[in-house]
Amino acid sequence: MVNEYPWLEPFWERLTAAHRQHRFPHALLLTGQHGMGKTVFADELARFLLCESPTDGMPPCRQCTSCTLFAAGSNPDYFRLTPAEDSRVIKIDQVRQLSEDLSLTSHGNGYKVAILTPADALNINAANSLLKTLEEPSDNTVLVLVSAHPARLPATIRSRCQEVRIQATDRELTNRWLATRYAGPSPEMYIALANGAPLQALKLAQEQALEERQRRFRALVDILAGQESPLTVAEGWAEDENLKGLRWMREWLMDMLRIRLSGQTQGIHGIDLQDGLSVLARKLDSRVLFGLLDGVNRMLKLADSTLNRQMMMEDILLAWAEQTS
Ligand SMILES: [Zn+2]
Repeated sequence: MVNEYPWLEPFWERLTAAHRQHRFPHALLLTGQHGMGKTVFADELARFLLCESPTDGMPPCRQCTSCTLFAAGSNPDYFRLTPAEDSRVIKIDQVRQLSEDLSLTSHGNGYKVAILTPADALNINAANSLLKTLEEPSDNTVLVLVSAHPARLPATIRSRCQEVRIQATDRELTNRWLATRYAGPSPEMYIALANGAPLQALKLAQEQALEERQRRFRALVDILAGQESPLTVAEGWAEDENLKGLRWMREWLMDMLRIRLSGQTQGIHGIDLQDGLSVLARKLDSRVLFGLLDGVNRMLKLADSTLNRQMMMEDILLAWAEQTS
């Protein structure tokens, strides 16, 4: 897990080394801005501490009873406190229940781990109640508080936790990481926009991609309605580095066929465009859709050759434009 987020590795090494030397803190405060992967990291630490066949510094085994239960969301030695659904705060009752749970014997290898996220959601009563647990920690109990805004926590809480500030300082590394998960232009721009927080950057990039997808889909709808020129659109789409528009169009054609043939939107790719795809699926004949899909597939196969991309794109979009309803 942590190796999927390479900027977390130094923190992982530090804490697993502390564990090896029997000085893992009873209370850990993970801080750092949004989108650093703090919660993923906290969960992985919990999994590691609870694992029944741990290997020094290595990720948890993912095979023992504890790891299996963890994956199923039912490890009895793992607790997670978050604000209740109808609330923005972690309440005193939740903390009291946690203290009670932590006072019982562990079911597994001895450890019990509780994650509080976001810890700054503890209201004042809940924080006071937690203080008691922090002051008299039971053996092998680890509390992990996660917060992007540690200044909002009472000083009494903070002073009883060991703070680890999660950062991603190696820009090269995070740029490369984002580039492997997002195929669009300028990953470094998104990393910068997100102040260096990789997961936040990925979210931004994906939202942008979503907007672009919707714009492309709108163009197809407008072509059909005679409100957009297929030639203008073809010019733009042919310039795509990896023919993104055409790849999306292939997905959409398959979705329309699926909707048309099954009468359902279940299992389609374009869940973001469900309504628009359903409308089009009703308008277009399956034979027409198959024909268009053929053309798109042919073009995608030939796209790397020297053939004139724009001309092929025009062919497809002109064929599309002819399907006026
Ligand atoms: Zn395990």
